[in-house]
Amino acid sequence: MASVEERPAANLADRPPPATIRVENPASGELIATVPSLTREQLASLAARARAAQPGWEAHGFDGRGRVLRRAQRWMLDNADRIIEVVVSETGKTHEDAQLADFGYTVAALGFWARQAPRYLAEERVPSWNNPIAVGKKLVIRYAPIGLVGVIGPWNFPIANSFGDCIPALAAGNSVILKPSEVTPLSSLLMEAMMRECGLPEHVFQVATGGGGAGADLIAEVDCVMFTGSGPTGRAVIKAAAEALIPCYLELGGNDPMIVCADADLERAANAATFYSMNNSGQVCISVERCYVEQAAYDRFVEQVTANVRKLRQGSPDGIGAVDVGAVTLSSQLEIVDEHVRDAVAKGARVLTGGHRRPGPGHFYEPTVLVDVDHSMKIMREETFGPTLPIMRIPDAEEGVRLANDSSYGLQASVWTSDIGRGETLARTLEAGVVCVNDAQINYSALNLPMGGWKASGLGSRHGENGIRKYTKIQSLLVTRRALKREPFMFPYRARRTMTLRRLFRILYGRGKRD
Ligand code: NAD
Repeated sequence: MASVEERPAANLADRPPPATIRVENPASGELIATVPSLTREQLASLAARARAAQPGWEAHGFDGRGRVLRRAQRWMLDNADRIIEVVVSETGKTHEDAQLADFGYTVAALGFWARQAPRYLAEERVPSWNNPIAVGKKLVIRYAPIGLVGVIGPWNFPIANSFGDCIPALAAGNSVILKPSEVTPLSSLLMEAMMRECGLPEHVFQVATGGGGAGADLIAEVDCVMFTGSGPTGRAVIKAAAEALIPCYLELGGNDPMIVCADADLERAANAATFYSMNNSGQVCISVERCYVEQAAYDRFVEQVTANVRKLRQGSPDGIGAVDVGAVTLSSQLEIVDEHVRDAVAKGARVLTGGHRRPGPGHFYEPTVLVDVDHSMKIMREETFGPTLPIMRIPDAEEGVRLANDSSYGLQASVWTSDIGRGETLARTLEAGVVCVNDAQINYSALNLPMGGWKASGLGSRHGENGIRKYTKIQSLLVTRRALKREPFMFPYRARRTMTLRRLFRILYGRGKRD
């Protein structure tokens, strides 16, 4: 197999030399690769090849496509170390973070979509008896591939949130062009090489490396865009999709609240708060970003979380089990984290542990716990996307819900209580696309459970039935087998037939209860 550095040059041999993107290891600051930044013409050429390849891929049928996806699943298992190494090298995250999310999610997703695509996209017969005009006709809904799907991804999970969203699109019979983040393109290039090696026909899945401009150019070429990233870019994406008149799905940022009731299992809640705020260095769209704890449990909870966080080992992820918290992938993200902590402290927050950048090579921010926080602070209102956990005391969970909903975001939320009934009731009042009771984040691995944001956190969802149907065009078939030579409502119009039809409507619909 070609190395990731070799592949673009081979594919783009007939094109003018492109500008290059430098890929660095955030844990060491070292340059690890350069990749081309594709021009608009190059993207158009990839799109033309993808369109030419799509009908052949569609003709493979669910079984043929499923075989390729299952082969890729085995390839991932056989090449786990190599995949995880590439993810770690360009993100600075720990091996464990790369294994659980980028590797573990994707290896499961390949099997899931191979198995579920024929079920979710099966043709459906719908009844015709309930309309006198269509009665007796055969009515069928079918899901045809939309054609060419463009997927644009972020840097925090360079496989799960980029290639992961390509899998259902491929399973549905589409060609896909993936534009990965310019910060982390190597993982996607490895996935492209994997799919080629596993027998995916040429040009059905292509990776277009480049920056935001390449993303914008891609939207002009595709039939549908699936975007994961920040809110401001999401708004630019939906404008471009409107211009192109194509469907657009947005998975954007979050500021996920965790509400801890006094009757919760506090040890579990504290361990979960520690993990789900600090894993992947807090660079998880669905990380616990702010915590609200009922008065009676507050002191014990804060003490336990602070003790947990102080024990975390942070540093360069130089091997399996080496550290708990890795690097912050982007230096500009480090600025945001630092700014949010400084803003909170200036407004009266207290740092119980952490609170600084770590000196030395690479980008690191100390795992940080803050208390005495309130909603005047950026750390409670904006997405911090770093290893921070602000904890706020609340009189009761209802106030926690009010504060949780006091946000422009609505991605996910969690409620922690031993009273499951109360937990579910509170969950239903939270304005978020997903709410967990006594858990967080792991809903993402339940591939049959939709995941998508409300409010400024996105449009549409991934996973479940809609996670693949969104990559299709619905075609409705109406088939008439036996019929009159002339339907009663056809020309010529006659008063008697018109009034007969009127009476029929009254018989059919006139028996409903009047309000
Ligand atoms: P970003 O918006 O900066 O970039 C995302 C992608 O968009 C990149 O590939 C970038 O090159 C591309 N892009 C930039 N400008 C573009 C344009 N005008 N047109 C088309 N594409 C363009 O986001 P990021 O910093 O890479 O990712 C972090 C953000 O992603 C966070 O806000 C995080 O919460 C969010 N995220 C959300 C989910 C989710 O499922 N909701 C998952 C992961 C990350």
